[in-house]
Amino acid sequence: MPLPSRLRDPNYLGFDIEKNKQRYQRERDRRVRKDAEDQFVEIATERSGLSHFVTDDHIGEPLAPRDAIEDDIDSLVIGGGWAGLIIAARLRDAGVDNFRIVEAGHDFGGAWYWNRYPGCQCDVQSYFYMPLLEETGYVPKLRFSYAPEIFEHAQRIGRHFRLYEKAIFGTWVTEMRWHEDGQHWVISTNRGDTLRARSVALATGPASRPRLPGIPGITTFKGHSFHTSRWDYGYTGGDPDGNLTGLADKRVGIIGTGATGVQVIPKVAESAKETFVFQRTPSTVAGRNNAYTDPEWARTRGPNWQRDMIAHFDAVREMKADDPKLLEDDTSMRFLAIMHRLMGEVDAATMTPAELAKLREIADHVIMEEIRNHVDAVVKDPETAEKLKPWYGYTCKRPTFNDEYLEAFNRPNVTLVDVSATQGVERITESGVVANGVEYPLDLIIYASGFEITSDFHKRIGVPIYGRDGVSIYDHWHEGMRTLLGLMTHGFPNLFFVGGLFTFTLSINYCSTLDPQAQVIAGLIKRLLDDGDSIHPTIEGEDDWIRQQIEAGAQDFALALGSKGDECTPGYYNHEGKSLDQRRDYRREGFGKGSIAYLSLLTDWAKASELKGVEVLRSR
Ligand code: NDP
Repeated sequence: MPLPSRLRDPNYLGFDIEKNKQRYQRERDRRVRKDAEDQFVEIATERSGLSHFVTDDHIGEPLAPRDAIEDDIDSLVIGGGWAGLIIAARLRDAGVDNFRIVEAGHDFGGAWYWNRYPGCQCDVQSYFYMPLLEETGYVPKLRFSYAPEIFEHAQRIGRHFRLYEKAIFGTWVTEMRWHEDGQHWVISTNRGDTLRARSVALATGPASRPRLPGIPGITTFKGHSFHTSRWDYGYTGGDPDGNLTGLADKRVGIIGTGATGVQVIPKVAESAKETFVFQRTPSTVAGRNNAYTDPEWARTRGPNWQRDMIAHFDAVREMKADDPKLLEDDTSMRFLAIMHRLMGEVDAATMTPAELAKLREIADHVIMEEIRNHVDAVVKDPETAEKLKPWYGYTCKRPTFNDEYLEAFNRPNVTLVDVSATQGVERITESGVVANGVEYPLDLIIYASGFEITSDFHKRIGVPIYGRDGVSIYDHWHEGMRTLLGLMTHGFPNLFFVGGLFTFTLSINYCSTLDPQAQVIAGLIKRLLDDGDSIHPTIEGEDDWIRQQIEAGAQDFALALGSKGDECTPGYYNHEGKSLDQRRDYRREGFGKGSIAYLSLLTDWAKASELKGVEVLRSR
């Protein structure tokens, strides 16, 4: 049965979908830059002239020299964020104790080690997002935790599983090379270490490498500047709660209004003498609806409470279960709440996939209209409110949630500078930022310009990796990523990928697939160590998985998230507005059937005695 015509009627809906779509297209067209992803500079290279933006200022003193480490180990974990911590914990559980963890930061935490900017918070409920809560016995204080509590939890996991004794901090891998003779990886680091490892778990995470916009003159600024992931409290004063007393006499410019910018801008605005927000595209900003954890529930929760909650959350998110309270409490589920309401207006049982897609489109317009109305309700100056309204589909960019962001633009010391007409900030001079032909003199420029999340793999991972016959992994993936179940790739024996975007599975909860994946990988590592084998997928195994991914409907990161690819405003989801035929084959990074289906495939595959699609190599 076709959808009722009223669901397209502007009088019924209160807005005109067709007119909105035309506006979306115009807004996209004027933002798409010819240089797409090349507009950004990779900071972490010496030649960028910007590598000082990624030094570790959290330790407060220069890196202490240490002797180079030479070691033979069973496994090396690269990265000490969630993915690294979980795989290390599961290696312990599997009885693999001869391993090390190399981490660039000086503690565990990954994104939560680096991102300490004021206002930093997780947009996913802490009960689902923070891993290993049952085993560590911790219950988060809030529905949506702030960064310090999350960082502390990373440290708690490190202590609980005795991972500190395994960690090599302040160190990053400069090369990994497979040695066929010894059937091991030889790993070199920036501190002169040489590690020979039978297996490697690559757990570098999706947002470990910050990026800066390649704005002309960026290296010439004589004032102070930093990236949000390297917040300089020595300059700003204050702490993650705000109170940035060092900014009381400062003119501060912030470039970037994504998920990070939205959190940090209110904190700067309440402390700085003047704040200039350079906005190219407005974010969607909904309310946060945070709440303290119910102490009674925390006291009486069952032993599997987190596993049950994650499974339930994923089921509700994939519309396999209903939970009106969850949909109401969690503002990130608002889209689903609207979908449920609309489903009540149609004959859901007889709906075709095309009608379901239409219903999703209507729901998208409903939520975007709510978000634009919310701007009008909060922002007093109509001209500023107009500039803050997002005109694109809800899933084109990462949605944000914040109760203070829009309010900040009612302050007299905050100026919104719309730089969309020039596709970004024009120039940076010795003394400030030039936008729309006007120079804004500044003391501090804060770059909330994001990370190498969907860039080319060598930028995302940052480690030269050479497999069998000296083949670079980036050459092996020159047409797009090739893996088996997101875990391994052909020609790179005993190398396992944990999390990151390697098995992007449509869950907004990055952590929901990490632990099951880590348990499978730890089991495989234990098995290959016990048997003295090396394993990697066959080409056919990879091809089969790629076919399954494509059949499952994941076109690529942008489309898999439900956004419309070519119609979406530019951002990292769609490789800065590249059309589908311009993009490399990113279909191999997603699994369109969602995390529940992926995890069931993964566990079934791991349980089978024969590892389908895997080749066992013996020493030559
Ligand atoms: P994003 O990549 O989302 O945002 C970068 C911002 O910089 C955009 O607003 C972009 O504008 C702007 N920008 C880039 N170049 C220029 C330029 N030349 N002139 C002006 N503006 C420019 O990075 P974020 O750090 O905000 O977020 C990255 C991801 O990290 C999130 O999507 C999320 O996955 C994660 N995150 C999660 C959080 C959470 O859970 N709470 C919090 C923070 C981050 P434009 O949009 O026009 O490209």
